[in-house]
Amino acid sequence: MIQHLSAYFRRHCVVCQDIADEQWLCRSCAAQLRPIGLHCPTCASAVADPTIPCGRCLAHPPPFDQLFIGYRYQEPVRSVLLAAKYGFQRAALAQYAEWAKALSWSIEALDYVVPMPIAKRRLVQRGFNQTHYLGSAIAKAHGVPLLKQALIKASRPPQSTLDSDSARRRNIAGAFRARQKLSGRVLLVDDVLTSGATASAAARALREGGADWIGVLVVAAR
Ligand SMILES: [Zn+2]
Ligand SMILES: [Zn+2]
Repeated sequence: MIQHLSAYFRRHCVVCQDIADEQWLCRSCAAQLRPIGLHCPTCASAVADPTIPCGRCLAHPPPFDQLFIGYRYQEPVRSVLLAAKYGFQRAALAQYAEWAKALSWSIEALDYVVPMPIAKRRLVQRGFNQTHYLGSAIAKAHGVPLLKQALIKASRPPQSTLDSDSARRRNIAGAFRARQKLSGRVLLVDDVLTSGATASAAARALREGGADWIGVLVVAAR
């Protein structure tokens, strides 16, 4: 009976339901993880020296100071995110938060954590914003406040429905507004980076709100 119960309480992989060995993934799903590797300090482009911005970022510096990113957006990260975001699976959310927290340890000092906001209409539809969960895990780990209301986002078509970077930039520019005065080192937290247009638009609003240093942390890049 005791053996039966302990089997029942074992963690199962959020992707394939096999027994989980590493946090909420089984060994074979965890082995498929593709870390992003050496990348530009402000975008996901591969570079030989990660302390020097890539040519594109040198020519057009983004409005934030540093990007922290973990993985390529492919399996198993994709399945974990979809299960967290649309399936509301707690284990998947917990796994995603673990990845976010692990990434945040390379940040020297932080004053605030700001989760990427979603438009109010989408928040009502979905019932929760997964970036609050990720941001809260990081804020707790660093002992700093999570500012859920620091940014407000106007309703726009989802970036994923647009097929070019320039369309995404036009769509999102000016969508964010800072609702409170900020200062010091602020970390903006999101789940996935697509073109970087959303992160840039939100960072611009944080800068206008008074943030001195802005880091952007995303678990994965498309
Ligand atoms: Zn698995
Ligand atoms: Zn770059």
